[in-house]
Amino acid sequence: MLPDKCSIKEHGKPCVNPPEFIVSVIVKNDEYMVGVTCEKHKKIVSGKIQSLQQEEKIPLGKIGFSRLKAVGTDCIHADQDEFVEIDIKNLKD
Ligand SMILES: [Zn+2]
Repeated sequence: MLPDKCSIKEHGKPCVNPPEFIVSVIVKNDEYMVGVTCEKHKKIVSGKIQSLQQEEKIPLGKIGFSRLKAVGTDCIHADQDEFVEIDIKNLKD
């Protein structure tokens, strides 16, 4: 299972944003998943990975971000439909 929140902590508080990217380190033909991040924290995550690589805690390799596909697409669509309905009602009023 993937974490449902961004892996970054800012000022000791965990980021509440949903993860938007899977962060991985690509070494030759292997890809190591190291965490997930939101759009806002991509740069911080790459910085952290680079320092971890310097400490040899994770393998040296290219840092990759792959966009997460929306989980539970059906739910998201249902929500969007509801919002549309609300908007229409408001317009009528
Ligand atoms: Zn974040």
